[in-house]
Amino acid sequence: MKTIGLIGGMSWESSVKYYRIINERVRDRLGGLHSAKSLMYSVDFDEIETLQRQGKWEELTALMIAAAKNLEKGGADFILICTNTMHKMADAVQKNIGIPLLHIADAAAEKIKPAGIRKVGLLGTLFTMEESFYKGRLTDKYGLQVLIPDRAERELVHRVIFEELCAGEIKQTSKEHYIRIMDRLAENGAEGIILGCTEIGLLVRDKDARVPLFDTTVIHAEAAVEYALLEL
Ligand code: GLU
Repeated sequence: MKTIGLIGGMSWESSVKYYRIINERVRDRLGGLHSAKSLMYSVDFDEIETLQRQGKWEELTALMIAAAKNLEKGGADFILICTNTMHKMADAVQKNIGIPLLHIADAAAEKIKPAGIRKVGLLGTLFTMEESFYKGRLTDKYGLQVLIPDRAERELVHRVIFEELCAGEIKQTSKEHYIRIMDRLAENGAEGIILGCTEIGLLVRDKDARVPLFDTTVIHAEAAVEYALLEL
């Protein structure tokens, strides 16, 4: 079994979910007392969120590269960045390490394509929904058409992530807003919706949407297990 390197803590609410899924899936596959071999480098999310808000992406890139190098030195065979947003610097991280980085958008697209979906809605932070590092990859590499909510809805989705979900708060009113936003994406033609922020799966479930949901936390964690067990 390969050793999984996780850059976590962004936020730890979702890293807990990664850790649980990875270990459960290894147990499902190998049985008995088997569990995943893993290392987690968990950051202080307050530092990360402040730098994101200030637009200090070079500093953030340096932090992610340092974390990845630490995991490589510690014996990780491959790396996961346990947040969609911080895939903004995924290419830079990959260039600076000698082990593979499993990209969260690739893992998502590899689930969406076989489902026959071509138009997909995307929920996440403003960075993920508005910039090209994520949407562009889905479009250029996988030919997916990506729909995002309107500006006011995007701001609400973003605010709920940082002010509530990353702080461990689950509110019914926010859930209702998300359901309404997902309904509108479906009305506009989305055949599925990517939960493109690793905390959103803490708020909404499959039954809350009229189209299939693709929870990037679950998909990314499962892809890691598949890769870790590839040659077994
Ligand atoms: N976990 C979130 C994501 O998947 C947001 C945290 C962050 O800004 O990194 O994008």
